[in-house]
Amino acid sequence: MKQKSGREQAVWAADNIKPKISGVWDVAGSLFLITAPPISVHLLAYTLLKLDGSWNNLAKVVSDVGIVQTFSQAVPSSQEVWQAVPFVLCFAAFQLLCMWVVPGKYVDGPVAPSGHVPKYKANGVQCFLLTILVWAIGSYQGLIPAGWQYDHANAMFAFLNVSSIFLCMLLYLKGRFLPSTADSGHSGNLIFDFFWGTELYPRFGHWLWPIGWDVKLFTNCRFGMMYWGLSTLSYAAKQYELYGFISDSMLVSSLVQVVYVLKFFSWEMGYMNTMDIQHDRAGFYICWGCLVWVPSLYTCHTLFLVNNPYMMGRAVTAFLLLFGLLGVWINYESDAQKMRFRRSGGKCMIWGRPAKKIVATYTTKDGESKQSLLLLSGWWGVSRHFHYIPELMAAFSWTAPTLWKGNWAGFTYWLFLAWLLTDRSVRDDARCKSKYGESWTKYCELVPYKIIPYIF
Ligand code: NDP
Repeated sequence: MKQKSGREQAVWAADNIKPKISGVWDVAGSLFLITAPPISVHLLAYTLLKLDGSWNNLAKVVSDVGIVQTFSQAVPSSQEVWQAVPFVLCFAAFQLLCMWVVPGKYVDGPVAPSGHVPKYKANGVQCFLLTILVWAIGSYQGLIPAGWQYDHANAMFAFLNVSSIFLCMLLYLKGRFLPSTADSGHSGNLIFDFFWGTELYPRFGHWLWPIGWDVKLFTNCRFGMMYWGLSTLSYAAKQYELYGFISDSMLVSSLVQVVYVLKFFSWEMGYMNTMDIQHDRAGFYICWGCLVWVPSLYTCHTLFLVNNPYMMGRAVTAFLLLFGLLGVWINYESDAQKMRFRRSGGKCMIWGRPAKKIVATYTTKDGESKQSLLLLSGWWGVSRHFHYIPELMAAFSWTAPTLWKGNWAGFTYWLFLAWLLTDRSVRDDARCKSKYGESWTKYCELVPYKIIPYIF
């Protein structure tokens, strides 16, 4: 099989290090995505908390008082925002402390385009369980109201919005002038670079902890995912506090989400091999996304259910629970197949047979040729991103209960996810094609569908 030449493959490494702008739309799109989503976070929370989760109600308010007045109603006052500050800072500080002190094995991440190999401490599950334990004990002792995250939700999103913009500015400057590794570059356009970021593996605090705190491990996992898991529990506790019971819609939705987040932490080191970490730099796209978008959009259905304790009945509840858990399990299994396969150097059994593979080569920035393995068996032989289907199944089980009375705002996450994963399958294909060249083409011939066999 004809492999890409070292020179062609070096383009992948170089592109990963010095991003290129392909047209004015790259910059205009970045500008749009820096401004519109932070606004939409508040409009969504306002619609869920004050307008019965109905987009029609939001449209009516906009037509009555105009978009500016609507937005000013949706944004919390500065006094409310200040009240949210201590929680967010304590939560972030606690997570940073846990990353450092909670025991865990040190694990190597994948080779970066520069040849650098990042090191991580694998203690995600322990930190997640510890966070829940501290929250549960604190709530039981009356030190933290269990439903605090619900009471201050919109104010916290506002504080997170502002603070993450400052963090992204710092990360932009760090990547330009003080990068942690050679995997750093910029296009020269301030807006584009702020949006996409400059550095792939920024770290800080080496003077205190030799491996230092990895910024993306913190923003994506220990803040974003951790906040998601904890706020789900906090919202369920708030419903109990308000109504004296937990509805079956809240039960199924929060249970599957907590299992999903636990599954995420048990696979956290596998996440270090995905696009978010290997390809997307620490800029607004990823960092704002994990510090604000995940805590707000990814939890919006549960936020809505707090004050809408729908009872769906045993049959629907059981169906959604099984459907969701099945989704989480298949999603986990497919991520785990890839992780097992790569860790064993391709020498493992998948679905009772030796794993089939393609040996693919790629070149780092310094021209060094390296090998990688592409799995052709199991879920990875059904389609190239089959694991996105169970991801959508799981998400359906925790968002569908919000549709019980026909209002759609609580279902926003599922719609967003369907779009995101479709776009991601295209972006990942493009990335892998530029990294592996002919080997990727061969994989596409053998496994021709992106997500849904025979359809897409
Ligand atoms: P993937 O798990 O699809 O990983 C993509 C990378 O895996 C590729 O860039 C390539 O990296 C490698 N790869 C691709 N094909 C193969 C193969 N056949 N064999 C071995 N390696 C291969 O990344 P995602 O980040 O998209 O998904 C990870 C998880 O996160 C999934 O469970 C997904 O459902 C979930 N997810 C959740 C989202 C949410 O918002 N809820 C959003 C996105 C993902 P390389 O070869 O360079 O190592």
